[in-house]
Amino acid sequence: MNILIMGGPGAGKGTMSAKIVEKFNVNHISTGDIFRSEISNGTKLGLEAKSYIDEGKLVPDEITNSMVKHYLENLKDKKSGFLLDGYPRTLDQAKAFDALSAGTDLAISIVLVMDIPFEVLAQRVTGRRLCKECGAIYHIESNPSKQEGLCDKCGASLYQRKDDTIESLQVRLQEYQNQTQPVLDYYEKKGLVQTIDSNQPIEKVWADVEKALDQ
Ligand code: ADP
Ligand code: AMP
Repeated sequence: MNILIMGGPGAGKGTMSAKIVEKFNVNHISTGDIFRSEISNGTKLGLEAKSYIDEGKLVPDEITNSMVKHYLENLKDKKSGFLLDGYPRTLDQAKAFDALSAGTDLAISIVLVMDIPFEVLAQRVTGRRLCKECGAIYHIESNPSKQEGLCDKCGASLYQRKDDTIESLQVRLQEYQNQTQPVLDYYEKKGLVQTIDSNQPIEKVWADVEKALDQ
């Protein structure tokens, strides 16, 4: 099964992705995570992407498309498919992905759209904390770690993303409305979209996601 998960910044894509990967044995391909890892490793790609990400803007399509292509071509263990998280985010990316997947086993089976009112996202994004080592996602109020500042899973310290500010969120929301909304419409027309109400407690959202994927 090849899954695509979409939704605004802070809608809960990463949180659900961790659960999906565990249950459905698919490769998690998060373009945001890949960019952050390239930045922390100081690579050329990381340097190219950094200024866009810090400002909340989308990284240009040609950089993002070739990164995803390279990543998919070099996947050693194909598992039971993949979960694309945060890609495609523009129509150009959706079309590039269609071209890449045509006639292969990469075709998208389902698009999960994490639906949430924009007003809720500021609280989600500013309270988000991530584990430096394993990438586990927490929230200071809705999903806190047992020991403040430390990961429950691996004990490493938690950090706040540099772009998780109100200023950057405004830009990311605009990018979402202008560039990503047309992608939702594109997959809607293909009949692939399943909308999930993400404005519920994590376990309820997960129950809905599981149900959609089990069908
Ligand atoms: P995204 O990957 O879509 O940007 P995340 O999964 O990182 O979003 O979630 C953003 C923040 O909101 C995190 O701090 C996470 O712990 C929290 N969160 C995720 N889902 C929920 C939920 N259903 N209810 C409350 N908080 C949530
Ligand atoms: P995310 O982790 O999904 O919130 O992404 C963090 C940032 O990485 C975004 O604000 C963009 O700057 C960049 N990014 C992630 N995925 C993409 C994409 N598909 N296209 C362009 N930029 C992306």
